[in-house]
Amino acid sequence: MKVVLIGVGQAGGKLTQRLVEFDANMDFNAVQGALAINSAKTDLQSLDLDTVLVGQDRVKGHGVGGDNELGAEVMQDDAGEVMNALDGRITARADALFVVAGLGGGTGSGGAPVLIHELQRIYEIPVYALGVLPGQGEGAMYQANAGRSLKTVIREADATLLIDNDAWHETGQSVGEAFENINQQIAQRVGLLLASGEAVEGVGESVVDSSEVINTLRSGGVAALGYASAGASEDSGENINTVTSNTRQAVLSNLSMPKATDADSALLVVAGDADRIPRKGVEKARRWLEGETGSLQVRGGDFPLDSERLASLVLLGGVERSPRMQEFMERAKEANKQETREEDPAEMFHNDEIDDLF
Ligand code: GDP
Repeated sequence: MKVVLIGVGQAGGKLTQRLVEFDANMDFNAVQGALAINSAKTDLQSLDLDTVLVGQDRVKGHGVGGDNELGAEVMQDDAGEVMNALDGRITARADALFVVAGLGGGTGSGGAPVLIHELQRIYEIPVYALGVLPGQGEGAMYQANAGRSLKTVIREADATLLIDNDAWHETGQSVGEAFENINQQIAQRVGLLLASGEAVEGVGESVVDSSEVINTLRSGGVAALGYASAGASEDSGENINTVTSNTRQAVLSNLSMPKATDADSALLVVAGDADRIPRKGVEKARRWLEGETGSLQVRGGDFPLDSERLASLVLLGGVERSPRMQEFMERAKEANKQETREEDPAEMFHNDEIDDLF
């Protein structure tokens, strides 16, 4: 799938950069163009990408802090400039646009939904969001911001691929180290997903096509991505269990939104040396995925790559009814109440969870 990536805010810019690097290192050529947008000048300066600074009149290049309403306003005010910068970058070859952002901050949280709305008005191709949710340990403001942002992003985007910052967090790491590690993992997984369907070698009927990625995301709402890999034998017949166990692991313990396994649609991509991919194993794993997700729309295909390992990449579409999503929205709602209370203590008398006496 040929895409143009637009990173908004600090996390959005860093992730976009990692994705561009991964795509170039692997020689995939799925990323056709990239742009980073921010209201904080210093965050843009550390990136090796073309950039647009928004909100200069209002915040003088210093960022919007954690104020996502201001983030939305500055994106709206400067939407014309952003659209001009994108003009020419989004060519007829692009199959989709991805707006990348951390949903818990200010610029990305507020700016991403506005930008997606503007892009939808102009471009015919799907506009997807790649959004990062704050981990449980991040403060109430991040949770509340992410809740509001997510609600709007889901409404505006054709689908929203979510990464929970707690999903690939290893214990004992500082936040900075953890972010770097998570970003690397996101770049690898999303990078592979974008590149699947772009394979030139071994084109055959079992090879996954980019339209299958788009069809899996067609159910809209929230999407999640899982991944696992293992060493493989040269004899494909011996790799049946490898493919099924990779697939199980990708979904059950390595999903970008842990436990978000009730899905409307799914795509299983088995990546590796074409001669090592067992047809029987792919079919068995696909059937297991049907049972696990409760979806009748489970697609499967190969991604031929020069590697001695086999990997299962699983894209799940329409997972928003999963318990994990509800858990997050509850967290965001609680945080929202807490935030309102902090702003104005009298607000505690205006909540509708305690009924008035008459
Ligand atoms: P903005 O610049 O105002 O859009 O704010 P940030 O991009 O810093 O957004 C803050 C949110 O993004 C926080 O809730 C963090 O969870 C997350 N975040 C910030 N930097 C990174 C990063 O490098 N990687 C990941 N995975 N998340 C990040």
